Amino acid sequence: MIIDLHNHSYYSDGVLSPSEVVCLAKKEGCDVFALTDHDTTDGLMEAQQQADESDLKLIHGVEISAMWSNMTVHIVGLGVDINNETLQMGLKQHQDFRQARAEKMARGLGGAGVFGAMEKTQAIAKKGMITRTHFAQMLVKEGVCKDMKSVFKRFLTGKKPGGVGGKWAEFDEVISWIHAAGGQAVLAHPLRYRMTNTKVKRLLSHLSAAGLDGVEVVTGSSSGDEITLVSQWAKEFELLSSIGSDYHGWPSQRVRIGHLQDMPKVNKTVWQDW
Ligand code: AMP
Ligand code: MN
Ligand code: MN
Ligand code: MN
Repeated sequence: MIIDLHNHSYYSDGVLSPSEVVCLAKKEGCDVFALTDHDTTDGLMEAQQQADESDLKLIHGVEISAMWSNMTVHIVGLGVDINNETLQMGLKQHQDFRQARAEKMARGLGGAGVFGAMEKTQAIAKKGMITRTHFAQMLVKEGVCKDMKSVFKRFLTGKKPGGVGGKWAEFDEVISWIHAAGGQAVLAHPLRYRMTNTKVKRLLSHLSAAGLDGVEVVTGSSSGDEITLVSQWAKEFELLSSIGSDYHGWPSQRVRIGHLQDMPKVNKTVWQDW
């Protein structure tokens, strides 16, 4: 069984349309696939239509930004009812915050001599949602930076021009939205938060106490040692294990949908009861 439970379309910061991502997942041999756009479920209707045509099992997902200890973390919801009001009210709050944050970022960039940042970025974002990735693409396109990595370093983080604090909902609230919609809450890419391992364990402990169901043990960028480490944490905190490439479709991103390392056999998985 080939399973990939973390992927993006152009409804957030991916490059492909939901139908294109689903077709690609099928072509790459996936049996089970989740579309998990940032803070929106709007791509799932189109994805479902294509999944029905392609005979692929689509899991309705979403990757929600959340605050923990004043830091931003990402919590993936899997198997959510996209018509659930609590979930959609929460996502709406995040979409509104993204809009206000984008305007603030554009002002910051204006102060650094990058003019018309909002309009130029809006032209890149296909479906209205603006992420930092879109600002990064704009800055590369305008020749301000040579690649995405240098943009994030020079512009879009911390006290840099274009850097703004995240004020997403707190982690426990985000977990409760996912549960209200009947989904499983999974901590995304636990080793990508620039935290020490001790701190990640504290994060897992706090999120578990708030009802977290699982953690991504295998991601598109995991090494064998990282899989072993997170797999042990999953057991320690009694969390189910998940797997996902975090595919965005950028030319610079080397991961392929469905081409992931194996889940260690001992782990209980998020899909064990599907
Ligand atoms: P946002 O949710 O709008 O703050 O944007 C976060 C997104 O930006 C992440 O989901 C990544 O896709 C992307 N991102 C964050 N940091 C980097 C980085 N250093 N290089 C490339 N992409 C990044
Ligand atoms: Mn992203
Ligand atoms: Mn993420
Ligand atoms: Mn992601």
